[in-house]
Amino acid sequence: MPIFPPERRPTVDLVTLGDVSGTTISTARQTLETTFGIVARRRRGPDPDRVCDPEPSPYTDEELFESAPLLDAIADASEADLAIGLTAAGIRHDGQDRLFGLGEVGGTSAVVSTDCFEESEREFVERVEKQVRKQMGRLLGLETTHGDCVLERAPFLRALDETESTFCVECRGRLTDPETAPAPPLWVVGDSPVLEEGPGSDVEGSNGTGAAGSHATDDGSLELSLRTLPLVPIGFVAMALSPFARGISRLAAWESTLPPETRRILHGGYRIVRFWTFAVLFVVLAFLALYAELALYDRVLGTSPGAAVVWGMIIVAIGLGYYGQLLVRAMVGGVYEGVLGGPQSSGTRRP
Ligand SMILES: [Zn+2]
Repeated sequence: MPIFPPERRPTVDLVTLGDVSGTTISTARQTLETTFGIVARRRRGPDPDRVCDPEPSPYTDEELFESAPLLDAIADASEADLAIGLTAAGIRHDGQDRLFGLGEVGGTSAVVSTDCFEESEREFVERVEKQVRKQMGRLLGLETTHGDCVLERAPFLRALDETESTFCVECRGRLTDPETAPAPPLWVVGDSPVLEEGPGSDVEGSNGTGAAGSHATDDGSLELSLRTLPLVPIGFVAMALSPFARGISRLAAWESTLPPETRRILHGGYRIVRFWTFAVLFVVLAFLALYAELALYDRVLGTSPGAAVVWGMIIVAIGLGYYGQLLVRAMVGGVYEGVLGGPQSSGTRRP
């Protein structure tokens, strides 16, 4: 019996980062369908090395990609409620050693790395299945780590192979019991610590072994330092915008009750509108910058600039336009997150 009943299922996108084998994709898809009753769509995300530069593992010298920017890229590429990224590249979290997968507890994106799964076809498939199940569990708000359950900690390949391949009775109960089952708009189990303690809470019962428990705020502040910087001078604006942001958040909650197909169209439309808004903003800002440059030149030197100077000004204006729209983007994101009381991507990340 799939975990979700037909009338209440989150939409899930499988986002591939770089070249991913057909077996990986079909296994992930099948796991989502048989375990959760979800028919996932596939989306192509960016290559990992276009997202960030890999760094050698301190233990093995293998090149590993930091997972936080990958999780963001996966969320960006997805048009569904939840997204699971698949990559053949090696990944890690916070500079620690290699991981097989990582998901934000109660968040929207997770990643599975098949980097060292290759051995035999059967083992490969089993490892992908376990990781997809486990990371979906994380996204649905299960943060626990215990034996006899697919959520067991698996720092090594052998440990992963020995891990139970399904959810234990208790975890399955939390996912299926009408009292606690994940429901829109958050798709998080009702008794999740994510809901009770809010973002930034410590991992309860953390086993204290390196890669496992990390604070949401650690991840958040790192990622958001550039984005929240513009918040300082515009705190007042944020206060004024509060009802507006709450309106958007209510709209999002309402949207998540619509049928999956309608939601996909809305998500897609939103992404297109967002893209063109910032494209137009870029052009407008570049023109304004050029206009300001010409006016300044005229005021200071009292003559019209020559062709070479104008070209130089155009290049500068394009640069200013580009960074200008990035800044506006950061401010909008920062205000929205700040007003709603914490980054939307908040949540503990767990392997
Ligand atoms: Zn369990």
